[in-house]
This record gives sequence, C-alpha cells and structure tokens, in this order.
Amino acid sequence: MSKIVIVGGGVIGLFTAWYLRRKGVQITVIDRGDLTDGCSFGNAGLIVPSHVIPMASPGMLRKGIKNLFNPKSPLALRMSPDPDLIRWYLRFTGASSAKHVNESIPVLKELSLFSKSLYADLSSSGELDFPIWHKGLLMLYRSQQTGYELMEEAEIARHAGLEVSTLSVAEVHQLEFDAKPNVSGAVHYHSDDHLNPAALMKALIGGLEKSGVTIIRNCTARKVITSGQKAIAIETEKGTFEFDQLVISSGFWSSEILKQLKINLAVQPGKGYSFKMNTVRPIHYPALLADANVAVTPMGGDLTQFGGGMELGFGGLKIKKARIDQILKAVGQFYPSEVGLKIEQEQIWQGHRPCSFDGLPFIGRVPAFQNVYVGTGHSMMGLTLAPATGKLLSELICEKKLILDLMPFRIDR
Ligand SMILES: Cc1cc2nc3c(=O)[nH]c(=O)nc-3n(C[C@H](O)[C@H](O)[C@H](O)COP(=O)(O)OP(=O)(O)OC[C@H]3O[C@@H](n4cnc5c(N)ncnc54)[C@H](O)[C@@H]3O)c2cc1C
Repeated sequence: MSKIVIVGGGVIGLFTAWYLRRKGVQITVIDRGDLTDGCSFGNAGLIVPSHVIPMASPGMLRKGIKNLFNPKSPLALRMSPDPDLIRWYLRFTGASSAKHVNESIPVLKELSLFSKSLYADLSSSGELDFPIWHKGLLMLYRSQQTGYELMEEAEIARHAGLEVSTLSVAEVHQLEFDAKPNVSGAVHYHSDDHLNPAALMKALIGGLEKSGVTIIRNCTARKVITSGQKAIAIETEKGTFEFDQLVISSGFWSSEILKQLKINLAVQPGKGYSFKMNTVRPIHYPALLADANVAVTPMGGDLTQFGGGMELGFGGLKIKKARIDQILKAVGQFYPSEVGLKIEQEQIWQGHRPCSFDGLPFIGRVPAFQNVYVGTGHSMMGLTLAPATGKLLSELICEKKLILDLMPFRIDR
C-alpha cells in the first residue's frame, strides 16, 4: 500500500487527505499545532467565486502604495531587508497588470466554482456534517468612490458569467430588515456561500480520523531527506517518517520547507484578525464592508464574526490595536445598532494567509522531484479553493486524468 505524508493540517492539507483517503493509500498528516486555531479555523468562512480578480492587480497595488505609512489602513506592507520579502514585492508589482487580471479571471472562476460544487456534494451527501448557507455575499458601500469601483468590478464579474445584482438602500434594508445598514447601496453576488470554518475543520478532522487517516499533532517537520530525484523521508521532532509521496501544505511556512529542495516559492504571510460576538440586532447576510475591507459573517443565531486586516510580511504575533479599532469603527459606521462595540484582547483571533506573489495558488508537483507535491499560496481564498485543491492533488498523485489544467498553478512560475 502506497504511503503518503502530508505536512500541514490546515484546510488544504485536510481536504487533500480527504480526497486521497478513498484511493487505498495510507495517509499520515503531520501538524506542528493541535489543529484548533490555525488560519483555516478563524477565517471569515466565505466561499467566494465572486473574487475573480486576483490579489495581484493594479487596484491592489495602488491601495498598497497609498496606504504605505497609514497604521489605520486595513492593508499594511511590512518594510524589512528580508530578501524573500523584497523579492515577493518585486514579483507582486510585476504581476499586478491588467493583462494578468484578464488572464486570471477565467482561471479563478473555474477553480472556485469547481470547489463550490464539491462543497455542495459533500454537504448534500451528508458525508461531511457542517452547516453551509446559500445567501450570496453583499458588498456594502458608503462612499461614492467605493460604489463606483464596486460597479466596475460587478461588471467584470457579470461579464465572466456570474450572477450579480446592484441594490438600492431600500433593497439592502429589505434583506437586512433588523440591522438596517447605514449605506449608499450594495452589490449582491449570488454565487457565494458561507460556513463556519471551525465547524468545517472539526467535521473534516473527525471524518478523516474515523476513516483511518493518522493525524499527528504538535509535531514540527524539520528536514526532508532525499535520494536522487525522490524525497524518501521527513525528520520531525517525533521521529522520522518514510513515505512514497510527500505533500507540502504548510501554509506560508511551506516556502521554508521547500527551500531545502532548492525551491524558492514566492509566498508571504498576510496577517488578519477576526472576532465573534452576539450583535445587538441580528445580521442576516454575509457582507464585505467595502470602504473598510471588513468581512461580516453571520454564524447562526445572533452570533456574527467580524474580520479584516492584511499585514504583508511576517511581523510576529502582536495584535495591532489600531487595526482592531479600524474594524470596530467600520462596523459601527455600517451597522448603527453596533456603534461602540468593545472587544477584549483574548477574544481576538489572528491568522496568516499564505499569499502568493500573483494571487493564484501553487498546486502541483515539484519539478525536480518525482514524488513531492505542493498545495499553498491560496491567499484570501484558501477556504474557498480547498476542496478543489485537495481533489486535484489527489488526482495528480494517483495519476488520474485531471478535471482542470494545473498549468496556471505550477510551482516553478
Ligand atoms: C482574517 C482572515 C479571513 C479570511 N477569510 C477567508 C474567507 O472568507 N474565505 C476564504 O476562502 N479564505 C479566507 N481566508 C484565507 C484562508 O483562511 C487561508 O487561505 C487558508 O486557511 C490557508 O489554508 P492552508 O491549509 O494553506 O494554511 P494553514 O491554515 O495556515 O495551515 C497550514 C498548517 O501547516 C502547519 N505547519 C506549518 N509548518 C509546519 C511544519 N514545519 N511542520 C508541521 N506542520 C506545519 C501549521 O501548523 C498549520 O496548521 C482568510 C484568512 C484570514 C487571516
């Protein structure tokens, strides 16, 4: 029986294990944490085929430069002499062109709709027990300029074949009849769904362990041992694990492991924050508060999660108060019932998005090695794209015909 080791038990590693487990292989997932609090646990829970414009785009580049020295901006670029970070910025700048955006739109759309269909299959078959809501996503805006930008993006999404409608204030209030947001209008992407990421992760972990997948927690993978064009084992703090195939899905830390194989993967962490609370008035629809880049996700009952912030480059685990204040302020501005929200430090979660330089994930085999595979760099869309990534990697590893072309996601780009 073929033995596969997966390094990293975030949503990408676990979905890869999920689709591999039926192919008669023996799977071991190794994670340096206890799988209860990583980036895949506290994210906003949005499944977003609407996000067809990659992070590397002229608009994002403009925002980054404009907000370079503003501590209250949702986007922060860390300045450091780290050569990997400098290389990432240079490649990100190079990739942020209209041509790249145009080429990426169909690619991201196809991958995310495929992933969404896999979520639908898993949920309707009852194979994986997690709640999922089909309400689309509201892009709420207050300023005219933001509204103008959102209309442009909506037109691009419509052109790509997604169902999108523009809503007046009255139409927003019909949907959000309790919270009655203080907005100038909204764009409603009907393509999107949402879920509670922690519930999904728990269901995945439970399902995998029940089906015989070994998950080793609190175990850091340190060194990949190779022989010729193959990797043969991985050294960890809990011993050495041999394998036939190795999958690296260790989030932004993947690039550290891959350096041992002489692969320089341009992935940097993008730190963000979230917190959950019972709102004064119920919020019924997931939303992005577009002027402030804050995500709002109803998680069932009156419980709502708020999240935001994108600090590029690793700057430690300190929670930046200015950014939390920016989220709280935006929530109060958009939802009048929630003005003056207070939050304790212990309630704040942080996670590091693995951000690729061009906004497309890395999915594929490491060219110089016959048996090493990578799934990372999903940036702001890891939850959305995880089932598709897991399924495609499982097909690639088991030499099945692939449903989608992996060229745009190749490791050596
Ligand atoms: C605030 C915020 C909101 C977000 N909202 C959304 C959203 O609404 N929709 C969406 O699609 N995406 C969202 N994302 C992005 C999404 O959460 C990530 O893209 C996704 O979780 C990345 O998953 P991953 O499995 O690649 O990495 P991770 O979840 O980071 O998992 C990697 C795992 O590898 C382990 N690891 C690392 N190094 C080693 C090692 N040496 N040995 C062993 N284990 C190791 C880590 O412990 C970790 O558990 C959001 C992210 C943030 C921060």
